[in-house]
Amino acid sequence: MNSELWIEEKLEDFLGLRLKVEKTLFSGKSEFQSVDVVETKGHGKMLLNDGLIMVTERDEFVYHDMITHVPLFVHPNPKNVLVIGGGDGGTAREVIRHTNVEKCTMVEIDEMVVNACKEFIPQTSSQLNDERIDLIIGDGVEFVKQSRAKGTKFDVIIVDSTDPIGPAQPLFGHEFYEDIYACLSDDGIVVSQGESPFYQEEMQNKLVNIVSDTFPIVSIYNFSNLTYPGGLWSFTFASKKYHPVKDFDDARVAASELEFEYYNEGIHRGSFAIPTFQRKRLSKWLKD
Ligand code: SAM
Repeated sequence: MNSELWIEEKLEDFLGLRLKVEKTLFSGKSEFQSVDVVETKGHGKMLLNDGLIMVTERDEFVYHDMITHVPLFVHPNPKNVLVIGGGDGGTAREVIRHTNVEKCTMVEIDEMVVNACKEFIPQTSSQLNDERIDLIIGDGVEFVKQSRAKGTKFDVIIVDSTDPIGPAQPLFGHEFYEDIYACLSDDGIVVSQGESPFYQEEMQNKLVNIVSDTFPIVSIYNFSNLTYPGGLWSFTFASKKYHPVKDFDDARVAASELEFEYYNEGIHRGSFAIPTFQRKRLSKWLKD
């Protein structure tokens, strides 16, 4: 008898990624999605939303380094940062390592994700009680609409979202990015989870097209994500003033005295060198 338990994340009907599971730590269903935390054999604890892998302890640093430190080292003085989604806490954790950040507002729609991570994945969630983090349980779409109406401004906005299904669907919409543009300071930057360049071409095209309609500087950068389908993943970078490579000052990274396991000056520059197939497909929208 085979009593081994494996979790498989399927991409459509032709690709699967399997991880061996030692035990289930949490299993719940919120009004938005199913939320599971499992202990895997090779990747530590893992969060899944609707059966899709969000983070694993072993490689979460790659995603969180790249979604956070790229915009925070391009912007010369990010003081007020907004994170949309990111319920595991890993992005907010990295944001507040930057000493010039005075406040990190995080708007996550699903309290169950936050609570499950607080209880079972302290590696990502342990900083969520930091006094510089203002955690709001609510819809990021509504939040930016209201912030726009109130005239609130952020220097950097990070959209750390799930795929565009369910509550995350409007996060891949025109109106949302118009509100984001309005909520960014005159030299603001927005970085967003940009899907797989290889398998999710349509979603990536749509997102880059939308940000291109709104922002004067639009780019995309790639990184290795071991536990997402295909292993190659993207973030979009849209900005009012600063170019992600030409305005990047390597010296600021050393001067910060922060240490990283993935991010460094070379990775920053190199991640914007995208493969030819992706550049050809996106060239009509990229403004870099
Ligand atoms: N690293 C992850 C990935 O790309 O798979 C994303 C991590 S984080 C867990 C994504 C979070 O976005 C989820 O917890 C989800 O609840 C949240 N989310 C989805 N739609 C949202 C919305 N409209 N407003 C705020 N948060 C949202």
